[in-house]
Amino acid sequence: MYKILVTEHIADAGIELLKSQPDVELTYDPELFRNFEKILEIIPEYDAIITRSGTPVKKELFERAKNLKVVGRAGVGVDNIDLDEASRRGILVVNAPTGNTLAATEHTMGMMICAARAIPYAHNSLKEERRWDRKKFMGVELAGKTLGIIGFGRIGSRVGIRAKAFDMKVIAYDPYIKKEKAERLGVELVDELDELLRRSDIITIHTPLTDETRNMITKKEIEKMKDGVIILNIARGGIIKEDDLYEALVSGKVRAAALDVFAKEPATDNILLDLPNIVVTPHIGANTFESQTNVAVIIANQVLAALRGEEVEFAVNAPYDDTAAKVLKPFMDLAEKLGLFAVQVACSRSKEIVLEYRGDLGEDLKPLTTAFLKGFLQNIVDIPVNLINAPFLAKEKGISIVEVKRPEGINFKKLIKVICRSESGEFTIAGTVMDDQFPKIVEINGFLFDLTPKGKFLLIKNFDVPGVIGKLGSILGKYNVNIAGFQLGRIERGKEAKGVILVDNDVPQEAINEIKKIPEILEVKQINL
Ligand code: NAD
Repeated sequence: MYKILVTEHIADAGIELLKSQPDVELTYDPELFRNFEKILEIIPEYDAIITRSGTPVKKELFERAKNLKVVGRAGVGVDNIDLDEASRRGILVVNAPTGNTLAATEHTMGMMICAARAIPYAHNSLKEERRWDRKKFMGVELAGKTLGIIGFGRIGSRVGIRAKAFDMKVIAYDPYIKKEKAERLGVELVDELDELLRRSDIITIHTPLTDETRNMITKKEIEKMKDGVIILNIARGGIIKEDDLYEALVSGKVRAAALDVFAKEPATDNILLDLPNIVVTPHIGANTFESQTNVAVIIANQVLAALRGEEVEFAVNAPYDDTAAKVLKPFMDLAEKLGLFAVQVACSRSKEIVLEYRGDLGEDLKPLTTAFLKGFLQNIVDIPVNLINAPFLAKEKGISIVEVKRPEGINFKKLIKVICRSESGEFTIAGTVMDDQFPKIVEINGFLFDLTPKGKFLLIKNFDVPGVIGKLGSILGKYNVNIAGFQLGRIERGKEAKGVILVDNDVPQEAINEIKKIPEILEVKQINL
């Protein structure tokens, strides 16, 4: 019998599902989270605990929870759970990130129409002020307008489908999905954020909050948008710089904005609330009865699967397998860097990624593949990537991962080679570990290198003719970028070459654009490792 404790309210469907299991003994007390002492007292007898955000599942609780194997979070955020402590104790944490997709999608559509037609203001004017002011509330139509979706995942793509039913032209920017996904839905995927900013009449954000998306929309990006653009953020606070949005709403550059999420929540004293052209809601994107039911059923199923030793889809942590990980650690570090490198070149649109493991890297290659995927996915998703969820996350991106074992190589006994196959061709990168501790990148697309995978790089493809490096150097100098090292890989003199320039600071986009204009330069990419 599995003993499961539910300490907060979850929808009936989840409770009924748990109750109906012959191998489950359920304790459901939705108010128990208010009495933490009581939870500590009874927790030793339970195999699993299901909470929302109100129960602190931290060291104090784990220390007493002698039988605990699984923590289920009925929702997404896991701030109330100490993931490291859970992992150390071999306790699996699962959550339910997909239950609220439709709720957030529909909230976005509602907010879009509200912003376009000032519905909340018209409503207030009639209801609160008892005014019949028909002239004041002129809006814009959605039909015929271009909607730019930033982040074309679960919610972004569903917003796209619905916007098309409103006769909108839909374009999307998401460097981590394949073109086919967008094409299948009749949506044009653009390669640069700038293009989306320039072309859209309405812009809606549906990315996670990551290092890359934090402050993705600032004054600089807003300046590139059309005058009178409408901006929506139903995703996460912190993606739009609020002070800059405020200024743009005051000046009229941005006609209206609709926000469900804020950099600091509760956002009751946010300056944006003072403006007349903003529609706001208190982070209620997920608040529908249906989504609460979905979340409850998903979490019940996840906890049951985990207890029964079946596959779980939404693991937030990965309990340790210490010994294997220690031996492989330097190769895992290398694999992670290769993943981080690969995702910053064309690999994010790959159909298939082959991971070739040469030499004796152990029987079980999963820790290495997971480390690769961790590097590959860590800037795309906002949950920790681990042994359990890595394959699901890759599958969700439509990437098939193939592991191949090969015998020892001639140049390097042990080697990890990554081959990314996409419509635009193949990209390969390989690395090894020197003296059992120093990861090195030794090959990029057939060109040999000796690179420590750490720091900031420019990866260039060019024609191997005199003067290219000089031109590059002077552009970088003009933008105050210091060159810390340079390596050139070439197969034959005068033909194509690949160069890696190690730089001390970020290379501004303007400098990259200038470098692209050098006739001998075929490609340039900035890589951060
Ligand atoms: P998802 O993981 O399915 O989709 C996110 C997409 O963003 C992915 O396709 C990913 O490739 C893309 N992405 C990542 N980094 C990017 C970048 N730098 N530029 C462009 N695209 C990038 O997630 P989802 O379920 O669609 O959720 C989207 C967002 O909505 C998340 O932030 C989630 O927390 C939020 N959300 C909010 C509410 C709410 O109550 N307001 C409810 C549910 C979800």
